Amino acid sequence: MLKGIGASDGIGIGRVMLVVEQSLEYVPKEIADTDAELARYQSAVEAFCAETVEQAEAIRKSTGDKEAEILEGHIAIIKDPFMNGEIENLIKAHQCAEKAVDQICQMFIDMFNATGDELTMQRATDVKDIRDGLLSILLGVQNVKISDAPAGTVLVTGELTPSMTAGINKDNIVGIITETGSQTSHSAILARALEIPAVLSVAGATTCLSSDEQVIVDGNKGEVITAPTPEQIEEYASKREAFLRERRELENFRGRETASADGIKYELFCNIGTPKDATKAMAADGEGVGLFRTEFLFMDRNSLPTEDEQFEAYKQASIIMKGKPVIIRTLDIGGDKDIPYLGLAKEENPFMGFRAIRYCLKNREMFKSQIKAILRASAFGDIRIMFPLITAVEELRMGKELVEEAKADLKASDIAYDENIKVGVMTETAASGVIADLLAEEADFFSIGTNDLTGYTMAADRGNGDVSYLYSPLQPSVLRMIRRIIKCGREKGIDVGMCGEAAASPMMIPLLISFGLTEFSVSAPSVLKVRKNISKWTKEEADAIAEKVMAMTTEAEITAYLETIV
Ligand code: PEP
Ligand code: MG
Repeated sequence: MLKGIGASDGIGIGRVMLVVEQSLEYVPKEIADTDAELARYQSAVEAFCAETVEQAEAIRKSTGDKEAEILEGHIAIIKDPFMNGEIENLIKAHQCAEKAVDQICQMFIDMFNATGDELTMQRATDVKDIRDGLLSILLGVQNVKISDAPAGTVLVTGELTPSMTAGINKDNIVGIITETGSQTSHSAILARALEIPAVLSVAGATTCLSSDEQVIVDGNKGEVITAPTPEQIEEYASKREAFLRERRELENFRGRETASADGIKYELFCNIGTPKDATKAMAADGEGVGLFRTEFLFMDRNSLPTEDEQFEAYKQASIIMKGKPVIIRTLDIGGDKDIPYLGLAKEENPFMGFRAIRYCLKNREMFKSQIKAILRASAFGDIRIMFPLITAVEELRMGKELVEEAKADLKASDIAYDENIKVGVMTETAASGVIADLLAEEADFFSIGTNDLTGYTMAADRGNGDVSYLYSPLQPSVLRMIRRIIKCGREKGIDVGMCGEAAASPMMIPLLISFGLTEFSVSAPSVLKVRKNISKWTKEEADAIAEKVMAMTTEAEITAYLETIV
């Protein structure tokens, strides 16, 4: 049996599909027969172009013309006489095709990156894709296609990336196993959104599991059972049935108000990454969107989304939510979220670096175009803006100034928007917790991002297994932060929500009721479970639990106690 972190509930029984990034390393060689090498290079280019045409056609059908044109642009680049000529010159000078392709592409990548101009730098990403594509062909490296996975597949990979999830067919993938990631990593969030049982952080999974072997993925316990016996398969099949039955029972909570046992009402929102997810939020009976992670609109493409594209996405989400509140978080990149075409410099310490609101305030045009898109969409529903990673009042002020500037631009062009749009703060840093009293004076609402708040309070990276024993929202320090943020917000009369994963934790819910949280924002599949858990407690009971917990000194003591009451 292999141990990992159970990151998405459920049991999956199936056969392994290994998705391993293939190495593109090669040994440079002197070539004697340059004509034969030239012919090998030219046939690789032809194969690359044929593959690209095929991919572009598939993307044109699934996504649209614009995305297909990006890929077709790769053909124009590789057929460019200058670039092609330079590669052929190196081959004529007895370099092997791999080295010639690598060297010339790298020269273009460096040249484009050095301009510092965003559009030109995006070309560097294109050339990198071309280089990798050509090298894969020259080296005979095959990449597995997730979209071709047959029914009953358990996906095993180093890290689950958003582009991989794009290829997942939910009906065929019955489980996910990765080598990295934690409860709150994006792999986990994606797996939960897809309702696929997942076990993350399984050390050496891609080496100790082989394609086609049968495994059981126990996402509840964080275990992978290898070479299961017929008895184990039977046992887990009935566990899976029980799990699915419980899921069905939760249906009784559909269509109900979210309220505590003594009738205090709460808002129960969903976290989404794309407008499409809004459909899932509605289907899950979500009462709004508490966190729209807009970075997904910026990922898996080669250039920035335009203001119009963003406007359409935000408007669509609001329309799908039928005018229910939609809190749109402005771009939160950096840390564990990279967007290659932005050419972010590698940092020693990315989680403390140039990311999220910090990056946006320094890239004002890009930021303003996002804010304008959100404002324009606000004419179509109850849309609110939220800034991530705030650590100082000035950042909130600068963000709000930009909102005012964007409003003035729109007004001058006679474009409609919600003049009273609410601007809130995602309280997810230790600093924002400590100055929550100051921020509450100037923010229209708070939403507590416990995924990062836990990391920043405990100085423990959310994705690092070695320090995961520290990374818990039930740490006394984190609970004090949460209590303080809620208290400061409520004292100033603003709503305080929680959009971190802790909002869905049965152990955390009575504490949040006692502290005075007003809104819970969770993944769509958790909505009914959270509604059920909120309905279990009266305020008085929750207060008694919180009083006991806040008198305890260690996370272990707190967890042990809370386990006895849920
Ligand atoms: C958080 O930090 O709690 C959060 C909800 O945001 P993300 O997981 O996108 O960092
Ligand atoms: Mg965060």
